[in-house]
Amino acid sequence: MARRTKIIATIGPASDDETTLRDLIRAGMDVARLGLAHNTIDEAVERMSRIRRIAATEGRYVGILVDLPGPKVRAASFGETAVDIVEDSRVNLRVGGRASTASDIEIDYAGLLTDVEAGDRLSMGDGRVVLEVLEMGGDRVSTRVAHGGVLTGSPGLHIPSDRLSMRAPTDEDLVAVERFVELGADMLAISFVRSAEDLARVPVDPHPVGPIVVAKIETRAAIEDLPAIIEASGAVMVARGDLGSECSIEELPILQKEIIRQCIALGRPAITATQMLETMVANPEPTRAEVSDVANAVWDGSSAVMLSGETAIGVDPVNVVATMSRIAERADDAFDHRGWMAELSDLRMTDTDDPDTSITDAMTQATARAVAELGIGTILCISGSGFTVRSMARFRPAARIVGLSSNERTVGQLTLSWGTEPIHLPEEGDLDDRVNAALKVACKRGAVTPGELVGVLAGTDVRSRSTNALRIERVPEA
Ligand code: PEP
Repeated sequence: MARRTKIIATIGPASDDETTLRDLIRAGMDVARLGLAHNTIDEAVERMSRIRRIAATEGRYVGILVDLPGPKVRAASFGETAVDIVEDSRVNLRVGGRASTASDIEIDYAGLLTDVEAGDRLSMGDGRVVLEVLEMGGDRVSTRVAHGGVLTGSPGLHIPSDRLSMRAPTDEDLVAVERFVELGADMLAISFVRSAEDLARVPVDPHPVGPIVVAKIETRAAIEDLPAIIEASGAVMVARGDLGSECSIEELPILQKEIIRQCIALGRPAITATQMLETMVANPEPTRAEVSDVANAVWDGSSAVMLSGETAIGVDPVNVVATMSRIAERADDAFDHRGWMAELSDLRMTDTDDPDTSITDAMTQATARAVAELGIGTILCISGSGFTVRSMARFRPAARIVGLSSNERTVGQLTLSWGTEPIHLPEEGDLDDRVNAALKVACKRGAVTPGELVGVLAGTDVRSRSTNALRIERVPEA
C-alpha cells in the first residue's frame, strides 16, 4: 500500500540546490516549506520558482507552504560552529543583530527590554537552552543559564507569548503575504496566533482563490481559543517547538492529540511539526523514540508530518525524507480504518445550517461505507474547491483517493490532503462529461486500471460546492 500521510520538508541551505530538490521530490516530499524567519522574501521567491520548475519536470505537484515568522524573536548568529552555553553561567541579552557568543547574545527584538521581567524563563533553540531572567539593567537583560546546551545558527528565543507586545500577523508578515499571494503560494502559515481575530487580519481571499491559511498553534492563548481558531483556518499546525516552551512539556502529547481531534471534528487537515526526526540533523538513522513519534502522529490523525532543521540544515535531507516516508507508509499500512470511521461518526461536527457542507459530509460518509462494502480500491473525487476531497479524506478510507479539479490552485492545495493523489482535470462540462474525463485522465496517469470498479464522487452542478452524486463505475478499456 502506498503512503497516505503527507510529508512537508523545510527547505534551507542544505536542500535548496537543484539536485537535492529533485531527489527530495523523488524521495516523497509532498509540500515544501519556505520559512521566512531565516531568509529574505527574495530568497524564498527564488526557491519557490526553482521548486515549481523542478516539480513540473518531474510531473509532480509539490505544494508550497510559506511560513511567516510572526512575532518570532531570534538571536543573532552564533556562527558556523556550535556554541556551548554552560549551565549556571551568566548570559547577557541585548537588542541587536550582529553576532552572539556564549556570554553575550544579541536579540533582534526592540521590545526585549520592556516585555520580559525578572523571574521569567526564556527558552532558546526549541528548549535546548533555558535562561532565567535575574535582572533588567540599562541596555541588557541579565540571565542565569538554568539548563545548558549547545546552540547553532540563529536560534529562536521564546518569550512567553502573553508578555509579547507584538501581535501576529506583523507588518513584515503582511508585506510577505502580499507578495506570496500574488505569486500563488498554496499555503501560508501564520505564527504565534493567539485568537481567531489574528487570522481575520490576514488579507487573503478564501481558498482556493487565496492560499490555505495554516494556523500554527504555539501559544497558550491559542489553546484557549482553539475551536474558533480552527474554524477560522484552512489547516492547523501543531507547532511543538514553541508550544513546548509555552506549556509544561508533559502536556505536549495531550495537547497534540486534542488539537488533532478538534481538527478532525471540524474537517481541517492537521500538521504535526518539529523535532520529528531531530537527531537526523547529524545522524544517518533516527532514534527508536523518533520512529514511534512519527507513527503515533499518523495514528493520531495527522494529515501531514513535518521536517524542519532535518531537511533545512541537516547532513542528508534526502535520507531524512526517505526515512520519514518509510515510517509513515508502514504506520499507514497498520492504520485502523474501520475503527476510525466508527469513531468519526460520533466525533465529526457538521455545519447543519449550510446545506453544501452537510450534503457533502453525508455523501462522503456514504462513499466511505459503500467502497468498504464493495471492496473498491479507488475513489475519484471531482472537486472545485477541494472541500469534497478533504471531507472524503477525513473518513480515512482504505481505498485510494484521487482528487481531481479543473482549478490548478485547488490541485496544488490538495498536496496537503491526507491520502490524496492530486490530478488536474481540464474538463468542466456536465456530470457525465466530468465523470468520463476523470476516468480517462486517472487511467492515463496510472491511478486506476481498465476494468477496475471505482467510486466517483461529484456535484451535478459544477458551480455549487455541494457534492451530491456518487457513481460506481467500471474503468473503460482504453
Ligand atoms: C514550532 O515552533 O514548532 C514551529 C513549527 O515554528 P518555527 O519552526 O517557526 O519555530
